Amino acid sequence: MPAPDQRLRIDLRGVVQGVGFRPYVFDLATRHGLSGHVSNNSDGVCIEVQGDPAQLDSFLDQLPRRLPPLAFLVDMRVEHLAPATHPGPMQIRRSQAAAARTVLLAPDVCVCDDCLRELRDPSDRRYRYPFINCTNCGPRYTIIHDVPYDRPLTSMARFPMCDACRAEYEDPRHRRFHAQPNACPSCGPHVWLCGPDGRPMASDDPLATAARLLADGRIVALKGLGGFHLAVDARNDSAVARLRMRKHREAKPLAIMCRDLGEASRHGIVDSQAQALLTSRHRPIVLLRKQPDSDLAASVAPGNSHVGVMLPYTPLHAVLLDDAPASLVMTSGNVSEEPIAIGNDEAIERLGGIADLFVLHDRDILVRNDDSVVGLAAGRPFFLRRSRGYVPLPVMLSREAPCVLGVGSDLKNTICLTRGAMAFVSQHVGDQANLAAFESFQDTIARLRRVLGVEPVRVAADLNPDSMPSRWAEQCGLPLVRVQHHHAHVAACLAEHRFDGEAIGVALDGVGLGTDGTVWGGELLVASVSAFRRAGHLACVRLPGADRAAREPWRMAVSHLMRAYGDAWESRLPSTLRAIPEARRRAVAELVATGTSSPWTSSAGRLFDAVSSLCGLAHDNEFEARAAMELEMAAARAPAQAGGYNWAPVRTVDGILLDPAELVGQVVDDLARETPVELVAARFHRGFVRGWAAACERLRTDSGLSTVALSGGCLQNRLLSELLSDELGARGFEVLLHQKVPSNDGGLSLGQAVVAMSAG
Ligand code: ZN
Ligand code: ZN
Ligand code: FE
Repeated sequence: MPAPDQRLRIDLRGVVQGVGFRPYVFDLATRHGLSGHVSNNSDGVCIEVQGDPAQLDSFLDQLPRRLPPLAFLVDMRVEHLAPATHPGPMQIRRSQAAAARTVLLAPDVCVCDDCLRELRDPSDRRYRYPFINCTNCGPRYTIIHDVPYDRPLTSMARFPMCDACRAEYEDPRHRRFHAQPNACPSCGPHVWLCGPDGRPMASDDPLATAARLLADGRIVALKGLGGFHLAVDARNDSAVARLRMRKHREAKPLAIMCRDLGEASRHGIVDSQAQALLTSRHRPIVLLRKQPDSDLAASVAPGNSHVGVMLPYTPLHAVLLDDAPASLVMTSGNVSEEPIAIGNDEAIERLGGIADLFVLHDRDILVRNDDSVVGLAAGRPFFLRRSRGYVPLPVMLSREAPCVLGVGSDLKNTICLTRGAMAFVSQHVGDQANLAAFESFQDTIARLRRVLGVEPVRVAADLNPDSMPSRWAEQCGLPLVRVQHHHAHVAACLAEHRFDGEAIGVALDGVGLGTDGTVWGGELLVASVSAFRRAGHLACVRLPGADRAAREPWRMAVSHLMRAYGDAWESRLPSTLRAIPEARRRAVAELVATGTSSPWTSSAGRLFDAVSSLCGLAHDNEFEARAAMELEMAAARAPAQAGGYNWAPVRTVDGILLDPAELVGQVVDDLARETPVELVAARFHRGFVRGWAAACERLRTDSGLSTVALSGGCLQNRLLSELLSDELGARGFEVLLHQKVPSNDGGLSLGQAVVAMSAG
C-alpha cells in the first residue's frame, strides 16, 4: 500500500525572482512526480506541492541545494496543508502583481558557460556579442534604476527587444525566460572605439582592434560592468610603467585579468580554494602567492609576494581576452584615488590623459561598482574589498529591528542599511577625500534606500565629528547614534556570526577616535552589539604630526624609540634609520617631546609601521599599509622555527596594558646584533600574538568570557590573523573572524548599523 498523498506549502524568501527560480522548482517537482504549482508573490516564491511523502522529503531536501546560480535563499518556511482531491499536473502560475520591495535584488553575476558556448559558436546569432546573457548570468545591480526589477526600470529600457529575443524572454522553458537584460546584436547595446580626444574611430570589429592595440603595448580604457578599467599587456614592462606614470600610481600593486585558469596559474599559485574563488560567480580579484617563474612585468606588483588575479566575468572581457594578450593589467579607471569613472563622457574627460584608446558602449552603468578583492588565510577567504558581484546580498542578523543607516568611515567607505533582520552593506564607495567621492557617498545612500524601499529611523556615525560621513549624518535630520570606531569593528564581526551575547573584542587597527579623546587602535574590549567597555589596550605613544605619521612610518619609529629609551633613544638608533636626515628625526622628536600636533595613540597599525621602519623595510607608506605589508612579507620568508619575542600584559589602573616598548626593545637589540630582518619581523609577529593571547586570557579570567571576536585593518595581514587565531584556538578560545565583510573600515558601516539597531 503506498502512503497517502501529502501536501506542503513552502514559502521562500531571498533572491528568488528573476533568477530562473520557478522553472527550477517546476523541473525538480516534476522529476519527483509531484503535482501543484509555483508562483511569485510580494515576498518571494510560494510553492504548493502534493505527492508521495518520501518524494516530498526528497524534494524538500534537494530544493535548497541545487539553486539556480543567481538565487540566494534567506528563509524557507514549510507548512502542511490538506491534500487536494484532484491535484492537476505541476504548473508555473503567473505572478500576482507584487509590490516586490521586499524581494531581494541579485548582484551582478559572471557570464555563464551556456552563454560562453553561444558566444564562441560562429553559427549562433550572438556570436562574439559582448552583451549576451541569460536568466542565470549577466548584469543586475549595476543596471537597475529602481525596483521592481523589470526591464523598463533598468538601463536596458532604451533597447526594445526584437521578436526573437522577446520570444525567448516570454517562454518559461527557455533559459532566457524573464532575463531582463536579454539582447542580441540586432536589438541590444553595441561597442565602439574612440581616441583619447573622444573622436570615434571606425572599426569593423572594435574588440579585435582593441586586442591588437593591447598587444602593441597601448593603454586601453574599457567600459566594463561597474565602471571603466584601464587595461594594458601585463607582460609588457614599459607599457605597465607608462600606465603607472600616467595614472600617478607609483608602487601600489595592480590587478590582472587572465584569459583562463591555466594562464592564472602561470602567475599565481592556484590551490583548490583559490580556484573555487576565481571561478565563482562573484569573480573577485583573488590575491595569489606569486609563481616563482611567472613572466609578468615586474612593475605589476613590484616587490610583492602576491598578485591580484581575476578571470573574465563579462562576455565583453571574454571576447577581448580570446584575442588580446593572455594577461592584462586591469586597474580601476581613475586618477589616483578618485571614484572609478562610469559614464562615457566622464571617462573621456578624466581618462583622456591616460588611455590611448577607449572601448565604449551604450548600456549605461547606473551603479559605480569596483571589483571585489579577496585574500586567503589558512585556506579561509577574507575580504579586502567587498563590492561588485557580492553587493547587494544581505548579511543576515540575529533579530529584526526598524531600519537604520550606518554611514561608515572616511576611509574605504561603505554604507549600510538594514531591513528587518537583514543588513545591506553597499558597494565600495572609497576614501572620502574629495567632492566626487562625497557625491558618490550620497548617491549610494539614496539609491540603496530606493531599491530597498526603506526609511531609516536612525543614523549611526563614527565618534569622530570631523569625518565627512559624520558631518553628513549630523545634518541629515535623523536621530544620530555615535559609535566608537573599534566597537563598530568588533560589533560587525559579532553581527556576522549572529553572536548575541558579550565577547572579548580584539581590535587591531590603524586609528579611530576613542571615548577619552585619544586615538585608539590596539584595543581589548568587552563588547556586545549594544555596548562595550575598554578592558585594555596598547600603551600609548605620541602620533607625531597626526595624519602625517600614517604616511611616514619612520615618525612612528622615532616615537616608539622614545617610549622605549626616553632621552637615550638616539644612542639606540638602528642604522636603518640613518636614511632619515638627523634634522628631520630631531624635529619629530621635538613633536613627541612637546606633544605638538601629536595626540596619544594606542594604534596597533602604527606599531607595525614603526617596526617596519626600524627594520629598514619601509620608511614611507607610498600606498596605504605598505610598511605593514613589507613587514608581513619579510616575516613570511623566515623559517618556521624563528621563535618569537617575549611579551606579556600588565594590569594597571587603566586595565590590561600591553607595552610596545618591550617589543621594540627586543627588535632594537636584535637589529644591533645584525639579526636578519626576516627573523626580526617573524619574532615580532609571534611576540605580538603572544602578548594579545595572554591579554585575552587575563580578560577571560576577569570576565568569564571565552569567545574572541577579531577585527580591524591589521587582520588583513594574513600571517597575523593566522597566528593569532591559531594561538587563541590553542588556548581554548572560540575565535570569530570576519567572513562576510572586510575587517578593515569597509566593514565599519555594518558594525555602526547593528549598534544603532540595538539603541532603539
Ligand atoms: Zn548565461
Ligand atoms: Zn534581439
Ligand atoms: Fe578601522
